[in-house]
Amino acid sequence: MTQAAASGPTGGAVTAHGGGVWSLRVPIPDNPLGHTLVHVLDTDRGPVLIDTGWDDPDSWAELTSGLATLGIGIADVHGVVVTHHHPDHHGLSGRVREESGAWIAMHAADIAVVRRSRVARTGSWRGYLDRKLTAAGAPEEHLAPLRAAYADRAARASQATGERTRTLPGERAALPDREIVPGELLDLSGRRLRAVWTPGHTPGHVCLHLEEEHPAGLPGHGRLFSGDHLLPGISPHIGLYEDPDDPAGEAANGDPLGDYLDSLERVGRLGVAEVLPAHQHAFTDAAGRVRALLAHHEERLTGLLALLATPLTPWQLAERMEWNRPWDRIPHGSRSIAVSEAEAHLRRLVKLGRAEAVAGTEPVAYVAV
Ligand SMILES: [Zn+2]
Ligand SMILES: [Zn+2]
Repeated sequence: MTQAAASGPTGGAVTAHGGGVWSLRVPIPDNPLGHTLVHVLDTDRGPVLIDTGWDDPDSWAELTSGLATLGIGIADVHGVVVTHHHPDHHGLSGRVREESGAWIAMHAADIAVVRRSRVARTGSWRGYLDRKLTAAGAPEEHLAPLRAAYADRAARASQATGERTRTLPGERAALPDREIVPGELLDLSGRRLRAVWTPGHTPGHVCLHLEEEHPAGLPGHGRLFSGDHLLPGISPHIGLYEDPDDPAGEAANGDPLGDYLDSLERVGRLGVAEVLPAHQHAFTDAAGRVRALLAHHEERLTGLLALLATPLTPWQLAERMEWNRPWDRIPHGSRSIAVSEAEAHLRRLVKLGRAEAVAGTEPVAYVAV
């Protein structure tokens, strides 16, 4: 980091958080979320980025111009710490590494997801999603357009690239070269940054706890880079963990919502002075936000139990759940995501012994017990 950065002029897309921490607003194209907050952490060996933003030319331009505002050239970047594998966080990591030689660090469980998506063939994913949605009770009028869209994309991609088709953004995702080990300090010269494993939103999501006094003297124990785990005004999507190579395996049998709620409590106990999330804005009172999210999920689970007084498939449950708009106005792609969220809630209720599968139903229906 240069002298210019140390006394950093900021404005517009760049916010100085003090104590050698800045955030850059990197836009996400065509997404209501608007932008990813990429954090810059000054270390003795050079700036380290926490997340990088969506892989898009405009996002890249904003990232590099934001860094330039801080007097940082992209070649100066020493390392990239990725909170989780989603493309709005990990998308530009590969390009940053290409232009700087920086290392990329991620939790092993999300590295496994990246590795799978890099080798996934469109056909195997399509088959997997099709079976999964069918098993969840998706009607033919949902499945038919998805099949048609896949067939169309596959045809166009195979025209362009021959045998191997490229239709999933994850196929280009960079394979990280370092593992983030939960509970350990990252190897960052001059900083105390500890990894806190917070599975739920993804199996390998991590928050990063900057165990240093707050630069403005706010009460509490340091600051938390919270990724998508803890956001001031959004409850992150929790679906089932997916592993098309092992549809009956550990990932498929996990309890992501249970993991998420445990992770929330873990983060609440840290007693941090300030949270620096990857979307929206920095905030204080992490414990209050954790309590609000726990209450929100408890309320939602209770509401679902009332719906499950009569047996419902995951699809039927999703149709009846409350979303940010009426079901008939939710686009097809988002309905698949909504069903995944309904399944995560059902999984939790079954693990808690509050719901069970109805024997002999196909697709499987669930009922409150
Ligand atoms: Zn995410
Ligand atoms: Zn995100």
